[in-house]
Amino acid sequence: MKSFAITLFTSIAVFIAGFIIVNQIYVKKKYEISIVPNLDTTVAERDTMDKGFSKGWCYCHRSHPERWFDIHTHILKLKQVDQKGVPLDMVKCAEQAFTSWQNQFKEFDIVGSVVLDGSPERMYLFDAAEKTKGMMVFAWVGYDKPDAQLLEKLVKEHGCKGVKMISRPAFNAGVDYRVYDSEKWHELYAKAGELGIPVLWHVVQRTGAAPYAYGEDTRSTWTKLNYTNWDVLKMFEGILEKHPNTIFIGAHQMFMGAKELDRLMKKYPNFFVDTSAGWRLKWGDHLTNKEILELRPFFEEHADRILFGTDFVYNIREKENVPFWSLLSMYSFQNFLIQLNLTQRSLDKIAWQNAYALLKIEKPDILD
Ligand SMILES: [Zn+2]
Repeated sequence: MKSFAITLFTSIAVFIAGFIIVNQIYVKKKYEISIVPNLDTTVAERDTMDKGFSKGWCYCHRSHPERWFDIHTHILKLKQVDQKGVPLDMVKCAEQAFTSWQNQFKEFDIVGSVVLDGSPERMYLFDAAEKTKGMMVFAWVGYDKPDAQLLEKLVKEHGCKGVKMISRPAFNAGVDYRVYDSEKWHELYAKAGELGIPVLWHVVQRTGAAPYAYGEDTRSTWTKLNYTNWDVLKMFEGILEKHPNTIFIGAHQMFMGAKELDRLMKKYPNFFVDTSAGWRLKWGDHLTNKEILELRPFFEEHADRILFGTDFVYNIREKENVPFWSLLSMYSFQNFLIQLNLTQRSLDKIAWQNAYALLKIEKPDILD
């Protein structure tokens, strides 16, 4: 009886030990597979080029885009008069600002941006962008100002490249979110589709704080309202469905995780997202293998509809250099995408090719 117990106990112990070992090998393999990096397209080529002369040289170079285009930036209000009160040439001011900031972002291979703050009050932004390599301006349309005819004029006569919307002011003012479901707004969504320009929309609102992504706690907004993000999302889905020819870019990933975004992207081919606010990794931080394993498939699958964006604010009131911390902040968005170890093809699309296709960019950027 005693020897039977010992045999049984030993068998169970061996079985458990065996299970743990096999499991560990499997897990290790799984993560090893997950972190196999995607290499620069020239690495394999070099193995055979020149009869193998350079085989092994730069063998660890990762895929890296040749350029980046930022779909989501802002520019602060400009001073309209000089110190003596004389009105300034606003087009020139904006043009100088675009150029001076671009010269610094060039260091990060960022070759152009969309500035989202064009409006009838800030027409000089459209005019300045037309004269500046790589700069595009969207029309910022307030929740109470949908105007399809004005949009058409801005696009056809002033080179406006898209629409920017943000629901937060409506939420803060206690306005019913269904304001965006009005006839006037539907006219504008349809017009955008007809004109072939995208609508970049900060649709829902972040819940809670996000110190890593420069956000104060916005929970209090919701306590005053009798609707939630889910209600707003439902309305947004109705709009996506009703306007299949209009491209909507959900700013800041709609403050949702990849799982819910995956559902939206599979259901609505006209739904895109930008990488601003959430998809960033501060300098010195690294994605873990597990995070890469979880996130990479999403980015590979939807690489055609993810756009590099930062929400960077060009403070053009100052003529000095971009502060170092600001450049690091900009870099954090590239850092996140680079660490995902994406294929060259997907990384190129996200970094700049999708934006070029969407905005029909033909004019040269600062690298050309
Ligand atoms: Zn923004």
